[in-house]
Formats: sequence, C-alpha cells, structure tokens
Amino acid sequence: MGTGKTGACLVCGKETSTLCSKCAKAGHDLFFCSPEHQKLVWAEHRRVCGRRLALDPWPCMAEFLDQVAKVPAYYTAQHIHDFTAGHNHPFDLFTAQPALADFRCVEIRRKCRSRNLHDVLGKTDVFQVIPEFWLHFCPATPVGVAWYAGMQHRVDILFSLLHRHAQEDPNVPLAYCRNAYKQVEEYLLSPASNVGPCASLMINTFRRLIDPDTMVLHIKIL
Ligand SMILES: [Zn+2]
Ligand SMILES: [Zn+2]
Repeated sequence: MGTGKTGACLVCGKETSTLCSKCAKAGHDLFFCSPEHQKLVWAEHRRVCGRRLALDPWPCMAEFLDQVAKVPAYYTAQHIHDFTAGHNHPFDLFTAQPALADFRCVEIRRKCRSRNLHDVLGKTDVFQVIPEFWLHFCPATPVGVAWYAGMQHRVDILFSLLHRHAQEDPNVPLAYCRNAYKQVEEYLLSPASNVGPCASLMINTFRRLIDPDTMVLHIKIL
C-alpha cells in the first residue's frame, strides 16, 4: 500500500514505501518491504495487527478486571488462559494483568529451569516470553507517557524474529534481529514515541536486557 511515506522494513531494514495497511489505519506506520517479510513475523504480529493498542492503559484495565471479576474463583490458571487467549482484548500486556501475567509467569518459570530467559527463546510461545521482558523493562519507563503502543508493535516483531532465529530458521539471519532491534531504538528516539528525554534511559535499559550485537537476552527470571 502506498501512502507517500517511506521507512525501513522492520525485518530486513530495506527502505520501502509499503507498510501494514491495517496498522497504518490504527495510527502505526509499520513498514515491510515485501509480503514475504510481513509473513515472517505474521504469527505474532497478527495478534496485535490493526490494534491501536492502549495509549492509556487504564480503561482497558478496568474492562479486563471487570471481566476477570466474573470468572468463578474455582477457575484454574488453564481456565484463565483459555478465557484470555481469544485476543478480544485490545492489548496484550496491560490487559494481561494480573491473571494472565501470573499464569504466563508460572508457565515460563516452569519451562525455564536455568532461569535464563534466553534459554527458552524459540522453545515457547513468543507471547509468554514478551511479558517477562516488559516486567524487567517497565521500571525504566516514564509514567503517563503514551509510548507503549508503538514500541509494543516493534518489540513483538523483534521477539518474533528472535524466536525464529533461535529455531535456526534459514530465513531469519541475525542481521534481521539486529535490524528489528535498531528499529525499536530509532522509534524511541523519534517524536512519535513521545518519550522525550527519557529515550536514553530506555535505550540503556533495552541494551542491558538484550545485547545489541549478539542478541543474547540478559534477563534472569526470578
Ligand atoms: Zn524486508
Ligand atoms: Zn499490522
């Protein structure tokens, strides 16, 4: 879809004028140079594609907590997972709190015996790994700044690529992961992220959690 805008493909970094049309309508310019590169990350991107995502998390939280209140107390983590896995919630992290986040934390801790998050990349659902990243990243984020939605889209794409690279997918070289990583940083530095002077703090935290060169996750889960 042509809009006159150009940007770097979120997968390979090639300058392009084609972007995800559903996301563009929702206010997010996510560039993909080709249908192939859009498809590479589609399994994850489809779960948030076209969503404006929560600029203000609280209305969504209220809605979610309202729904959770209707879940009978005897429901297990599996029930909660089934209940929330329909993706009719507008945003994965905020609406995931607290029940789904708890469930995912239990699940990831069960799978991650070494307690090193990097070890489960490629071995589990990307959307179980991402909440752990946010739990470590969020303390470095400014409160009340509408930064999250655009970064969430880009972080999802980065983790989608990291997942496939860890699975030794020949279509996902390390260079693509490094590019997606760079796109997150460039987004934080752009006016669109609206984080202003907090960008450097956020980028430093990001670099501490994921090595920009090796793409190794330095996230020790508790
Ligand atoms: Zn591309
Ligand atoms: Zn999209």
